[in-house]
Amino acid sequence: MDTRRRVPRTDAVLADSRLVEAAGRLGRGIVKAAVNRAQERARAGEIPAEDVADAAVAALPATAASLRPVINATGVLLHTNLGRAPLSEAARVALAEAAGCTDVEFDLETGGRGRRGRGTLAALAAACPAAEAVHAVNNNAAALVLVATALAQGREIVISRGEMVEIGDGFRLPELLASTGARLREVGTTNRTTAADYAEAVGPDTGFVLKVHPSNFRIEGFTAEAPVRSLTGLGVPVVADIGSGLLAPEPLLPAEPDAATALTDGADLVTASGDKLLGGPQAGLLLGRSALVERLRRHPLARALRVDKLTLAALEASLRGPEPPAVQALHADPVTVRERAALLAKELSGHDARVVDSVARVGGGGAPGVELPSAAVSLPGDCAVPLRRAGIVGRVEDGRVLLDLRAVPAELDPADLAARVRDVLGER
Ligand SMILES: *Cc1c(COP(=O)(O)O)cnc(C)c1O
Repeated sequence: MDTRRRVPRTDAVLADSRLVEAAGRLGRGIVKAAVNRAQERARAGEIPAEDVADAAVAALPATAASLRPVINATGVLLHTNLGRAPLSEAARVALAEAAGCTDVEFDLETGGRGRRGRGTLAALAAACPAAEAVHAVNNNAAALVLVATALAQGREIVISRGEMVEIGDGFRLPELLASTGARLREVGTTNRTTAADYAEAVGPDTGFVLKVHPSNFRIEGFTAEAPVRSLTGLGVPVVADIGSGLLAPEPLLPAEPDAATALTDGADLVTASGDKLLGGPQAGLLLGRSALVERLRRHPLARALRVDKLTLAALEASLRGPEPPAVQALHADPVTVRERAALLAKELSGHDARVVDSVARVGGGGAPGVELPSAAVSLPGDCAVPLRRAGIVGRVEDGRVLLDLRAVPAELDPADLAARVRDVLGER
């Protein structure tokens, strides 16, 4: 039997009122692609020909972008591959509001030009009073490029051999710095570097001394590191790349550097990410002495690294608004996390679901080695792929899938999450 003939034509399917509405929302190309896939399924005999329109409607994406929202049940609070810090509701609203025309560089009183990012930078300054001045760029890598270009192009950056780090996905900090035309003057050894090593290397060619937080590994044993405060008398700026974006000390992460401490210890500039422990959008934060920050702000390269209005809005709301989800996840009470896991497991009884102890991590270049007590729901290992396809990303351990609840937003009702998981498990 030739089923081909009975599959309705594209134009006829596209006339379905639901698909007309979707074309207005998502664009005709996306809707047509969904219709074409449904037609193929009908030709292959997977669905009846009369269900083509229904199948196309069911397959429509939620938005016109291909990025899909996922639930981070990996137990890694800042998962770089899952977009690092999830934004707070306050930041999402601010971002959506800024998406239209805004007064980002306009003074509504005078009708003249306004200083770009003034509200965001004021919020950052208020959150870190130890900084004389602040600036924001695209990400921490951009902050480092700007500092290296403005302060050390054709000159030397003095850096410890123990801090020549690779962050992830092949991003090597020394290569980034060298790409700006600065020369790296390596001092000390992999495991031991002293203040005297820096002092000996500093000379007329030095642009600045750079301290980098080894944010994704630890060196143990016979080690020595020169703290920021031992490097301040050398007559050159001391720049500290703290990585994680903590503005003040975090009692739960005593070994993690923070901007306020680095600045009070005498760092002239601090660079950090906005989307790590600060819990905001991707951004590079620069905090420190007014004269240096001003120099960076006025450097021609600053224009190429500037943040857009969406980032400015989300960053300000993350700084001023309620505690962002990443920070909440860090501070979550393990007892509460376990209760949530128990509720989820109960909803999934009959699917071989068990509550297990789990160890969550900060991840994303922060607090290496720190283990955060957590709880997870353990499911059969062959659920991993279908769960991922449904946007639920767990962790595979010893042949089981663990859904670790620490980084899953507390507002997400276990019953709703269970319903989504059941949808997947029911299909197996
Ligand atoms: C994460 C990290 C970076 C890179 O920051 P991005 O915001 O991802 O560009 C640089 N340095 C350190 C120490 C880091 O931890």
